[in-house]
Amino acid sequence: MIERVYIGLGSNLADPEEQLRDALKAMARLAQSSLSGVSSFYASDSLLPGQPRYTNAVAALDTSLPPLALLDALQAIENQQGRERLERWGPRTLDLDILLFGNRLIDEPRLKVPHYQMQARAFVLYPLAELAPGLTFADGRRLDDLLAGCPFEGLERLPG
Ligand code: ATP
Ligand code: MG
Ligand code: MG
Repeated sequence: MIERVYIGLGSNLADPEEQLRDALKAMARLAQSSLSGVSSFYASDSLLPGQPRYTNAVAALDTSLPPLALLDALQAIENQQGRERLERWGPRTLDLDILLFGNRLIDEPRLKVPHYQMQARAFVLYPLAELAPGLTFADGRRLDDLLAGCPFEGLERLPG
């Protein structure tokens, strides 16, 4: 079964735009998968003070990998690109988060889907809306409603 997965990309170290482009190339090479869409890139200030600005985007991946296998593959790409896990929410070369996975609700120790914080993150919701306008999540929430509760303010869409 092929499922549509939305993945959030983020970086605020070591040339963030290049990090995102490299990550997209690596995702396009994943087994049993094809990269079927990429949003614009967006810049925004870090949620935590004192960190460099972030660049974020969302990608659509059609895959027949099971969820934990995809998570392993995404973490391998993070590690490949020098992700160091020093402190939670510290600055990072690359973060790849599974936002939505087909119509699944996943609640496992290593993987919660939908991503627990996506409703509060403009840098996730606005790029996702480029790829999937009018989407309804597996848990019934509507992207349009989440957008209405999450101002675009502070987000800068980068030229293509
Ligand atoms: P946040 O989760 O707030 O965006 P983060 O992305 O910086 O923070 P990470 O250090 O990348 O957090 O990941 C911590 C752990 O979260 C991972 O080891 C992974 O097992 C777990 N995790 C749970 N749900 C997900 C998900 N939907 N996508 C990616 N990782 C997840
Ligand atoms: Mg994250
Ligand atoms: Mg993460």
